[in-house]
Amino acid sequence: MDDQKGEMTMQSEGRLKGKVALITGAGSGIGFAIARLFAEEGAKVVLSDVDAASLAAKVALLTQADEHLCQPHDVSSEPDWERVFAAAIERYSRVDIVVNNAGIAAEGSIEDVTLESWRRVMSVNLDGTFLGCKHAIRNMKNTGGGAIVNVSSVGALKASLTGPAYGASKAGVWNLTRTVALSCARNGYNIRCNSLHPGLTHTPMMDRASPEMLERLKAGIPMGRLAEAIDIAQAALYLAGSESKYVTGTSLVVDGGYIS
Ligand code: NAD
Repeated sequence: MDDQKGEMTMQSEGRLKGKVALITGAGSGIGFAIARLFAEEGAKVVLSDVDAASLAAKVALLTQADEHLCQPHDVSSEPDWERVFAAAIERYSRVDIVVNNAGIAAEGSIEDVTLESWRRVMSVNLDGTFLGCKHAIRNMKNTGGGAIVNVSSVGALKASLTGPAYGASKAGVWNLTRTVALSCARNGYNIRCNSLHPGLTHTPMMDRASPEMLERLKAGIPMGRLAEAIDIAQAALYLAGSESKYVTGTSLVVDGGYIS
């Protein structure tokens, strides 16, 4: 009974009350769903995206929109990370949660993919996450710790005939996550780091797939439907919040049974 009461009190106050969360790629899809949920749960949110116009349109939809901060941000650029963290620290004095969500996909078989396209995917998905982790640690270790959530994909865990760069970049994110978790735990930084592996999710990224491809992909999902962005955001909330305080270096798959 007491536990239940405690839980109700915590939820009514917001599971992220008093926290500052930086979310990349927050102008669309999963990133925006995470930003909206975290704001509803009481966090101050720093929304960043390379597409500043789409970001500006989205922030107005958040709970207490004036309390959040929007930053134009190319995650593959280290000077951009320095500027975004500086702006967040200036406004809120700390960052408790970083969600490395920005990502891109590129089609093409291993025989077709160009080096240019391979490098572009790697630079956003893997370099971007590496820089996000590096700057998160640099800042969080001075303010008592925090939580990093790296958005990987089921594509990290399963071979694909059509997206070799995407799968390799997301597998890199998965391994990097465990290195960050181990390093932070061993150094006593109180920083946790976990990877989140969405299955196919209804977002503008998926809308770019052809209808035939979508049908084929859907047929492979045991639960018979794509995820909604909120399904992924709920998992990010668990990994970012105190309910997962003993969880680090793990990978949370949210895929309707796809890789089972
Ligand atoms: P989306 O295309 O809807 O949104 C991605 C956002 O990232 C966009 O707002 C885009 O402007 C931004 N972005 C792109 N390049 C950037 C850069 N260099 N710097 C900063 N921002 C940049 O995609 P989504 O479906 O919401 O995907 C979000 C994350 O989830 C990605 O990492 C993606 O790989 C992953 N994911 C998506 C699915 C899916 O089915 N949608 C499945 C597994 C994993």
